[in-house]
Amino acid sequence: MRKAIFAANWKMHKTISEAVAFATAFAPLVADVTNAEIVIAPPFPALAAVGAALRGTRVLLAAQNVHPEKQGAFTGEVSPPMLVDLGCAYAIVGHSERRHLFGESSAFVAKKAAALLAHGVRPIVCVGETLAEREANRTFAVLEEQLGGSLAELPIERATDVVIAYEPVWAIGTGRTATPAIAQEAHAMIRGWLQKRFGAAGNAIRIQYGGSVKPDNVAELMAEPDIDGALVGGASLEAASFAGIVRYQEKSQ
Ligand code: PEP
Repeated sequence: MRKAIFAANWKMHKTISEAVAFATAFAPLVADVTNAEIVIAPPFPALAAVGAALRGTRVLLAAQNVHPEKQGAFTGEVSPPMLVDLGCAYAIVGHSERRHLFGESSAFVAKKAAALLAHGVRPIVCVGETLAEREANRTFAVLEEQLGGSLAELPIERATDVVIAYEPVWAIGTGRTATPAIAQEAHAMIRGWLQKRFGAAGNAIRIQYGGSVKPDNVAELMAEPDIDGALVGGASLEAASFAGIVRYQEKSQ
């Protein structure tokens, strides 16, 4: 049985005081949720303050990015030990905005994932095709390339410490969610790839869907057999909205 995982990716939103206000309002809204992991990824400057605001709650802290090296001359970068220091349980790597706006390759994503695991931080590895790739019937080929490259350094015994986020680029921040059937088709392909690569562990790896997830569409996505949670951008910026996503089962009953 895979435990659901819902993660908020705030991207470049919220000052420290805004982030703390969210954390303070949000944690009580999900205090009794035990059937899912709940993760918030604020921007780097707010990590320490949000971590302090979440202490003693069930909500886990995540970073939105990391550099694979422990330390060194990498201006503007943040290392895995620094994230450990801040209390990060997870870090997002390979988000499509990193891949497409900042030119990050799957090989670089693999190094980040390996470095995180070496320091006890669990990576959320994002994969997903662009609209042009989908229209050219290249979705599965792109996913295979991104999975193969991004998980190239993942040893089988650490496989279940990784979370995969399937995020079709055409659905991110566009309001255009993949239908549950389209999402499930991709998740099933990813599940098959993970099983082939990691054996039984591939069945235990959680696969989140990301792309315009909202309180009113999350239940139908979560009803699909290979969708184990969501990575949420826009709809995670408001406490009641993200809580509504995490508590989707109550709405659908
Ligand atoms: C994301 O940034 O990972 C994302 C899925 O964004 P949104 O929910 O806004 O589409």
